[in-house]
Amino acid sequence: MSFEIANRDLMARIGRLETKSGAAETPLLLPVINPNLQTILPETLEARFDCRALITNAYIIQRNFKETASEQGLHKFLNFNGSIMTDSGAYQLLIYKGVETSPKEIVEFQEAIDTDIATILDIPTGWGVPKKYAQYTVKETIKRAKALKKMKTRSDLAWVGPVQGGQYLDLVAKSAKEMGKLPFQIHALGSPTPVMEQYKFDTLVDMMATAKMNLPPDRPLHLFGAGHPFMFALAVSLGCDMFDSAAYALFARQDRYLTESGTTRLEEMQYFPCSCPVCNRTDPETMRDLPKEERMKLLAEHNLHVSFCELRTIKEAIVEGRLWEHMEQRAHGHPSLLQALKRVTKYSEYMEKQSPVTKRSGIFFFSSVGLARPEVVHYRKRLLDRYSPPPKATTLLLLPQTGTKPFHTSKEHRTVMNLIRQKLGNDTDMLHVCTYAAPFGIIPTELDDVYPLSQNEIASPLDTETIIYVANQAADYIKNTDYSRVILLRDPKVWRGKILAACRRACKKKQIPFTALHERDPWAKSTAESLTDVIQEAVRSP
Ligand SMILES: [Zn+2]
Repeated sequence: MSFEIANRDLMARIGRLETKSGAAETPLLLPVINPNLQTILPETLEARFDCRALITNAYIIQRNFKETASEQGLHKFLNFNGSIMTDSGAYQLLIYKGVETSPKEIVEFQEAIDTDIATILDIPTGWGVPKKYAQYTVKETIKRAKALKKMKTRSDLAWVGPVQGGQYLDLVAKSAKEMGKLPFQIHALGSPTPVMEQYKFDTLVDMMATAKMNLPPDRPLHLFGAGHPFMFALAVSLGCDMFDSAAYALFARQDRYLTESGTTRLEEMQYFPCSCPVCNRTDPETMRDLPKEERMKLLAEHNLHVSFCELRTIKEAIVEGRLWEHMEQRAHGHPSLLQALKRVTKYSEYMEKQSPVTKRSGIFFFSSVGLARPEVVHYRKRLLDRYSPPPKATTLLLLPQTGTKPFHTSKEHRTVMNLIRQKLGNDTDMLHVCTYAAPFGIIPTELDDVYPLSQNEIASPLDTETIIYVANQAADYIKNTDYSRVILLRDPKVWRGKILAACRRACKKKQIPFTALHERDPWAKSTAESLTDVIQEAVRSP
């Protein structure tokens, strides 16, 4: 098996996963095929959905079709030519407590049926279990993982090393670290059923980020049991490369219609908001009148179409470098998703290290949630660690952001700067002009056309968190530099006194003079004149 990464954005990647049965592109959705209950046939998946990979359950096959499957091989048995992944029965173990197979038997069986991606018989941690039990699941799974090399006889199958620990993040970290040391080709994280059923996506963010931070980055990560398209963007952004979806069929069985932002009941619908082949042909009323089996099949087909479509949208967003925007849009489909996105903030520094920060297009900033995006984090770190002001500059002049970018090309900044130059002449060198602006904070004029400081669009009025963030950036900048004086041109309508308070406090701490221009309109001619007077006085005073 091989895995090559072609594109990245945030912690997401587009990759090429090749098994002995062919290649497929990640992020990859593997529809779940239950051999007992085939809602959509594997050959239909291949022919009509261009589906290159699916997942089925080795345990169910072993119990019900052992001989046929071993004799024919899994591909012939399911009538599918693409890559097949098998789960080991661990889920059944979780639900029915106790499985009639052993770790060795399930390894041998997966080799016998010639699967492409095989899973060891792990012990899922589950949800709401005592920590002691969770520790046991981690330990036992690692033990079984280590035993794999003695049990397997073939080397052409890819093996999945599942990560356990559930909601105990220290255990997830330990499990991921230990599993990562073993020669697995793929890792998997189980999303406990309550995470999906009760929409505990913030917990899932913690689990995924913890697993990712402790696993080898070059191996794909599969997320078990997370098949609803409305959370794909979040999971992919956190580094999930593969999903399995039983949801398309399970929801269809309950007359539920998936969309990229949620779930609707067929009985409540008047229109289909989708133009897949199913929705193009029919309408909710007609579909409601169909016999159960037929209705279920059509709903399952739509559910799959919308899932694949969302993955294509995500891939396009990765290529364009707009995954953050896409994730934010999807997060507004449900409050629990937005809550989860807010949890991503906790991992913003790690995400920044993984993500490209220079992109094809400018970035959109909708609200303070965007302060966690890699470009903002990257700039904050660079300014703090790598930047020093021009050597001759002793006075810092802070100007408010303008509608025009780069700021130094705006009419407002040019007017002020012309006046200053006229008055100061050769002393201009002593003055360092910076702009305070959302979302980035302090932007030295000589940097203001560097990507993405000018290549962004921002929604105003700014929210309180964003204003406070910029105020804190201003204070940190003053704290970390050596100016002997700070002059602030205020724009109280936008910044509501927060920049003033932060700069004043920072200057007081450093014991340097601070002057703020209090006029109502920062760009009025009279303001510019008072400002130049203040500057002239400051620069000429010893
Ligand atoms: Zn549809």
